Amino acid sequence: APIGKLEDNDDENSLLLFSSYGGCKKFVQYPISQKTKDGLAEGKFKVTTDIQRASLPHTLCGRDILGAAKTGSGKTLAFIIPVLEKLYRARWGPEDGVGCIIITPTRELAGQIFDVLNLVGKRHGFSAGLLIGGRKDVEVEKESVNDLNILVCTPGRLLQHMDETQNFDCSQLQILVLDEADRILDVGFKQALNAIISQLPKKRQTLLFSATQTKSIQDLARLSLKDPEYISVHKEH
Ligand code: ADP
Ligand code: MG
Repeated sequence: APIGKLEDNDDENSLLLFSSYGGCKKFVQYPISQKTKDGLAEGKFKVTTDIQRASLPHTLCGRDILGAAKTGSGKTLAFIIPVLEKLYRARWGPEDGVGCIIITPTRELAGQIFDVLNLVGKRHGFSAGLLIGGRKDVEVEKESVNDLNILVCTPGRLLQHMDETQNFDCSQLQILVLDEADRILDVGFKQALNAIISQLPKKRQTLLFSATQTKSIQDLARLSLKDPEYISVHKEH
């Protein structure tokens, strides 16, 4: 397969070549870092699911996407892999601060994403934090939040840090993920999300994943997606 020739450090331009071949079946066939491949192997992930296979060629090229696939179809890995690769290729390090923000509607979902991130991202040197409110003391969190590379958050707690944490800095953000995007874009989170988005740099990659295809043009406009790729698997009959 032509993709087998691509090296770990190939930039996004050479990955465009890869995207024209469509996704491969196995993770080992993808042009991703050995560190990520090792993490996937440790998690016993070998074969891609439909949404992973359909989205990885685009997300790994740095494109914005809207990915829709039913619950249980493997959307978490579909965004964890491009997140890790984006920061890896940018040679992101401890000094570089927040490079990725993943937003999800509930604490439970955030916890699950954090676990997958720690498993698959174990070989990378990135620091990750779970910002979800509840039991953890926000004052303690404020001291460490600027040292984290990847934030997994609920909208409310992220906004609290944006409003209250001294020197909270996400000006170098490389990639934003909205998991369960249809729920986050819903009225309940509207104000919080608008306030969050307004504080993020516009030059970034944005990945939206949900169980249903988000159709609202307004929603997409307020997220300032750039020529998003619409990917939908398991269409409703
Ligand atoms: P979704 O977010 O679409 O509801 P999840 O990301 O939570 O789905 O994944 C559902 C389940 O599928 C999890 O138990 C996860 O470990 C498993 N899974 C995801 N991708 C793969 C894969 N490529 N191979 C095997 N199991 C997978
Ligand atoms: Mg999910």
